[in-house]
Amino acid sequence: MHPFVRYINDFTHLAFPFNCFGCHKALEEGELPICDDCYGGMPLTKYWQHDENAVEKLFWGKLPIEQACAYCFFTKHGMVQELMHQLKYNGKPIVGELMGSFFGRQLLGTAYADVDVIIPIPLHASKQKKRGYNQCDFIVKGMAKELGKSYNLTVVERLRANETQTKKGVYERWINVKELFKVVQPQFVNGKHVLLVDDVVTTGSTLEACADALLQVPGTKVSIATIACPSPF
Ligand SMILES: [Zn+2]
Repeated sequence: MHPFVRYINDFTHLAFPFNCFGCHKALEEGELPICDDCYGGMPLTKYWQHDENAVEKLFWGKLPIEQACAYCFFTKHGMVQELMHQLKYNGKPIVGELMGSFFGRQLLGTAYADVDVIIPIPLHASKQKKRGYNQCDFIVKGMAKELGKSYNLTVVERLRANETQTKKGVYERWINVKELFKVVQPQFVNGKHVLLVDDVVTTGSTLEACADALLQVPGTKVSIATIACPSPF
């Protein structure tokens, strides 16, 4: 049996036949909602095998992060973009759990598998209510299951909804993300090595703000993992 087919069984409300979330090809019964071609063609970064990778460098000189990586490259109009769209905007959280489990499998045996607890970047309550779920919660669940780790979805709270940052200058962006997060349950991360998870990393400013809040808790160490990052090509 395909190692991820068991996840299908957790989502029995999905009736066959249906189409791959990545390429929309019709699936056979028993195939995952991300088909074998999409799974095999995932543009992996392999950053988890390399210190000083492009994601880790985003945090250099800013925060003492243990390590950081992304699972695959996000290319415009590519399969990963389609998967992220399904996950975030088309009500398909199972995509997050599957991608999380694929990623977790890659991280087995690496230093990322040595963390104590996995936590998601939270959405602001208003945004989560609107979407119905936090996509990162599902990524975290998939990763935790594969890595055999505990997770906690409520350690950190997001104090404001995120505004679009693309047209802002450096100073405005800094003000915008400053004190964006609050650790509301520090007892769950105190003295722990936390793996902080987001769906996509671009500038790293959101992850930086959340990691900064976590690092205020005594004895906390933070590693970072995201599903996608921009392609360097
Ligand atoms: Zn596919």
